[in-house]
Amino acid sequence: MEENFSSFLDENFKDNIDLLYARVLESERGRLFDQAILGSLHLSFKEVKTIWRREEYFDLGLTKREVALILMARSDMLPLAFKPWFVDRSYQCIFCNLNLPEGGEHFIKVCPAWREFRSQKLCDFSFLDILGGEAGWKELASFIGKALNCRTLLGEAVV
Ligand SMILES: [Zn+2]
Repeated sequence: MEENFSSFLDENFKDNIDLLYARVLESERGRLFDQAILGSLHLSFKEVKTIWRREEYFDLGLTKREVALILMARSDMLPLAFKPWFVDRSYQCIFCNLNLPEGGEHFIKVCPAWREFRSQKLCDFSFLDILGGEAGWKELASFIGKALNCRTLLGEAVV
């Protein structure tokens, strides 16, 4: 494409704007993909995975689902709205009115929509301590399982 502004003056203005938007989006996707490869979008995982050894919650007799939920929470892979690698989406939590991105910390510690599932232990510890197992692995898996089930049901009702 010719790199000047003459094409913006003709009647194909909208097409050109769309083309420009697509180029910016493509460039932004490339930048975000690079960040994902470097792990810079997975904010909590690099804070909680500080030692390279087998995860301790693998060996506690938890169910496969409980282990999967803990693993998803620790690696920023819970099915929430905050997915910074998708640039053209809203990350806002639609289940409360706090107008915050729905990331792992919002889901596990903050969002009032899931208050009834949050035990006192989960309230007492910081987000990173919870991801480190301080509030109990079973406790964390139980909360995520219940809150995600409810979130799915409410999400289907909203959409
Ligand atoms: Zn919320």
